[in-house]
Amino acid sequence: MAVLVYIEQVEGQFKKSAFETVSYAKEIAKVLNTQTIAFTIGNASDDVLKTLGIYGADKILTAKNEELKSFSNAAYASAIAEAANQENADIIILSNSFSGKGLTPTLSVKLNAGVVAGAVELPRMEGGKFIVKKFAFSGKVFASVEVSTAKKIISLNPNSYSIIESATSPTIEVFNPQLNIELKTRVKEVIRSTDKVPLPEAEIVVSGGRGLKGPENWNILEDLAEALGAATACSKPVSDAGWRPHEEHVGQTGIVISPNLYLAVGISGAIQHLAGVSSSKTIVAINKDPEAPIFKVANYGIVGDALEILPKLTQAIKAFKG
Ligand SMILES: Cc1cc2nc3c(=O)[nH]c(=O)nc-3n(C[C@H](O)[C@H](O)[C@H](O)COP(=O)(O)OP(=O)(O)OC[C@H]3O[C@@H](n4cnc5c(N)ncnc54)[C@H](O)[C@@H]3O)c2cc1C
Repeated sequence: MAVLVYIEQVEGQFKKSAFETVSYAKEIAKVLNTQTIAFTIGNASDDVLKTLGIYGADKILTAKNEELKSFSNAAYASAIAEAANQENADIIILSNSFSGKGLTPTLSVKLNAGVVAGAVELPRMEGGKFIVKKFAFSGKVFASVEVSTAKKIISLNPNSYSIIESATSPTIEVFNPQLNIELKTRVKEVIRSTDKVPLPEAEIVVSGGRGLKGPENWNILEDLAEALGAATACSKPVSDAGWRPHEEHVGQTGIVISPNLYLAVGISGAIQHLAGVSSSKTIVAINKDPEAPIFKVANYGIVGDALEILPKLTQAIKAFKG
C-alpha cells in the first residue's frame, strides 16, 4: 500500500500544481502511515527532482523513455498504471490540469479504479467510507463522493490545496515502463504559440467584459495584467464578438479557473460566468453599476468607470512595485 502521485513536468521543470499535488498526497500518506511515491515523466535533473522531497515525496520514480518524449494520453496513462502497480499503490493522485483531465479516466479503466475528478479537499473517512469533496455542475455546488473500489484515483483542482513543506530525503529511481500498447498517434513537432502564462495555471487573472466597450480599450486591461504579472481572460460575449480570442473565455461554456485573485472588469456576473470563476480565492469587481450581481460574490468592489479606474490602478501598482 502506498500513495502514488503523478507529477507533470514542463520542459524539465515543475509547476506550482506539482507541489500542491505532492503536498496533498503526503497528507493522505501520513494518515495512512504509508509512503508517498512521486512518479514523473521527462528530463528533469536530479536537483529539480529532489525539490519534490521538500513537500514530502519519499521516493521519486523518473521515466525518460524516448516513446514518452512528447505527451500522449495513452502512453502516459500506461506508464502511470505500471508505476502504480509496481509500487502497490492504492491511491493515485494527479492534478486536474489539461493533461490530468485526459489521463484520469484512461487510468481509471486501466486500474479498475474509482475516480474523483476535481477534488478540493483531503479525503475523509465516514463510517468506514472513503469520501472526497469536489466541485460539481461547473462549480455551482460541492459533491461529496464515496469511492468504493480498492484502488482510488483523485485529481486535485489546481489552487485548491496549499503547498506544505514536509522535508524528506527522497531516493530517485529510474523507471522504465514496458508500454505494451499500440500508440495510434504520435506527436511530430511542438510549436509554442505564446509565452503567456496559461489561463488555468495563472495565480492572478484580469478579466474584461462588455463594460470595456470594445477591443480598442483592451490595452488598458493588458497594461494592468502586465503590472500584476497576470493572465487575461474575458466573458463569453466578448469572445463571441471577436474582441478577444476564444481561449480567453471563462465560464460555464469556457475555461474554469481558480486563481488566487480574479479581477472582473466591466463584467455583470451572470451565473454562467460565475460558474467558471467562483472558486477563485479572492474576487475584485470593477463595475459602474452598484447593483451588478458580480458585487454579490466579490470580496472587494470598486463602483465606477473601468476606463478611468484601470489606468489609475495600473499606475498605483507600478508605483507600489517600483
Ligand atoms: C447557455 C449559456 C452559456 C453561457 N456561458 C457563458 C460563459 O461561459 N461565460 C460567460 O461569461 N458568459 C456566458 N454566458 C453569457 C452570460 O449569460 C452573460 O450574458 C455574460 O456573461 C455577460 O457578459 P458581460 O458581463 O461581459 O456583459 P454584460 O452582461 O453586458 O455586462 C456588462 C457589465 O459592464 C458594466 N459596465 C458597463 N460600462 C462600464 C464601465 N465603463 N465601467 C465599468 N463597468 C461597466 C455594466 O454595468 C455591466 O454590469 C452564457 C449564456 C448562456 C445562455
